[in-house]
Amino acid sequence: MTGSDAGTLWWGWGTPAARTPLPAGVRSLLAQVLGVDCRDTPPVGLDAVRLPAVRLAEDARAALAGVIGPAWVHDDRESRVRHCRGRSTTDLLRLRAGDATDAPDAVILPACHDEVLATLAVCARYRLAVVPFGGGTSVVGGLAAACDGVAGVIALDTARMNRLVGVDAWSQLATADPGLRGPALDAALATHGFTLGHLPQSWEYATVGGFAATRSSGQASAGHGRFDSMVVGIRLATPVGTWELGRAPASAAGPDLRELVLGSEGAFGVITQVRLRVRPLPETIHYEGWRLADFTGAAAVLRILAQRDLLPTVARLSDEVETAAGLGGAGPATAGGCHLIIGYEGRAGWAAARRAEVGELLRTAGAAALGHDAGAEWLRGRFHGPYLRDALLDAGMFAETLETAGFWSALPGLYAGVRDAIAAALAAEDVPGVVMCHISHVYPTGASLYFTVVCPQLDEPVARWGRVKAAATRAIVDGGGTVTHHHAVGTEHQPWLAAEIGDIGLAVLRSVKDTLDPAGILNPGILLP
Ligand SMILES: Cc1cc2nc3c(=O)[nH]c(=O)nc-3n(C[C@H](O)[C@H](O)[C@H](O)COP(=O)(O)OP(=O)(O)OC[C@H]3O[C@@H](n4cnc5c(N)ncnc54)[C@H](O)[C@@H]3O)c2cc1C
Repeated sequence: MTGSDAGTLWWGWGTPAARTPLPAGVRSLLAQVLGVDCRDTPPVGLDAVRLPAVRLAEDARAALAGVIGPAWVHDDRESRVRHCRGRSTTDLLRLRAGDATDAPDAVILPACHDEVLATLAVCARYRLAVVPFGGGTSVVGGLAAACDGVAGVIALDTARMNRLVGVDAWSQLATADPGLRGPALDAALATHGFTLGHLPQSWEYATVGGFAATRSSGQASAGHGRFDSMVVGIRLATPVGTWELGRAPASAAGPDLRELVLGSEGAFGVITQVRLRVRPLPETIHYEGWRLADFTGAAAVLRILAQRDLLPTVARLSDEVETAAGLGGAGPATAGGCHLIIGYEGRAGWAAARRAEVGELLRTAGAAALGHDAGAEWLRGRFHGPYLRDALLDAGMFAETLETAGFWSALPGLYAGVRDAIAAALAAEDVPGVVMCHISHVYPTGASLYFTVVCPQLDEPVARWGRVKAAATRAIVDGGGTVTHHHAVGTEHQPWLAAEIGDIGLAVLRSVKDTLDPAGILNPGILLP
């Protein structure tokens, strides 16, 4: 066992069996829209990947082996490559080109909380940086810890801590280990008649610990909320000891310290257990598609749904470009406009009543029903995005996403500002590209915007994307949006964090880190500089 691999591609998404070629229709669409032809750009072989020499001293290695057993300390090529960075497009491009220069010196797989505590003590003693590693699906550089000033970097993979620890059916609570992935968690909950309802696009491989550490948000957030809203308790292993939080459904015992751990991205401790609010398995599941005339008008309809407390379980609105590209989920957009996917999961009576009310409101707003098939098609393809991205990278194309959220009053300006900034930055790079967007997380006060950019790779795609992303983030900050609605800070958004939380906010986070991690071994350079 090499940790969080489960037979997956070391340079891409999913297993080799799930690999798909780029559909011919997409190839011709790209040629038509971007004026460029696809070309084969396969990844290098594992043997050709460049890795730095292992820096782990023999005595440190022996001490780690002493606390978790020698079989669970790995410094072989494949383990190190598999734990190098995350799964952003630039992470993948660097790996595919054979660059694993940020690989950890070793990967360790503790089996339980006490082994994590003992590991942290060894790492503090030997000045080894510790990178908590869940599914490895970070897209913000959250696994690329700085290695200056430390004697080595250890990836602490939570794959062996993967049990559903228990279910309190009476209270509708479940306690889970951090390394449990989305499908395994839902399968285990289903045997008790429950579901979590947290379905990010990375659900197949991301873990409970990762969800909590990044404040992730899933496709059903309109109805079920974000992951942070599902967490009622957390156990954290820190270099100064165990920190347990959350003992009641609500509390006035000072500020809610769980919020300090949610989104802490491994910089404050290793999350070794999470207690979650779960819900009964839905009696009914119904998805359907709608078409609306334009994105801004359709977004205003979502605002009304949210503010009248009429949100369905899933609400996902694609802009005109995403709809035209056939990525709006409801099939090819022959009639133009914007596709909206609406899903209802829950009690049958609630779903029927909600569907009637939402349907009436949509029709009044001029929406055309696309029917159940459109919703079923979106459901079938809801996790396909990262497989398509691999196929695009294989074909010499580049595809990446970025996200933000803003209040309703700021949303139209934020959308236009970010879209225009990306387009201008691509033009400055002399790269033809397509910029598309969707809304998939809706609140009474605002919504998220999720942008996808597709362009040819050309030369230096990593550096080029860095400049495009910086222009987009500048537009997000100027437009009043958050630098990240759900992808977290990592290294990528860190330069912009002060613009969002201020110097006082940074100082508060720094003092928390200094208290919990006095030697500064936990994910150095992630979240905080
Ligand atoms: C194709 C794709 C689709 C995605 N879709 C979504 C989406 O729909 N919604 C969304 O919110 N995000 C999405 N993401 C981003 C990513 O999947 C989430 O951030 C996810 O929560 C990360 O979980 P993970 O287990 O893979 O964590 P990792 O990537 O392993 O780690 C993420 C961060 O958390 C830290 N960490 C991990 N485990 C622990 C732990 N036990 N204790 C402390 N720190 C820990 C790591 O050190 C790192 O800083 C997507 C990513 C990809 C590649």
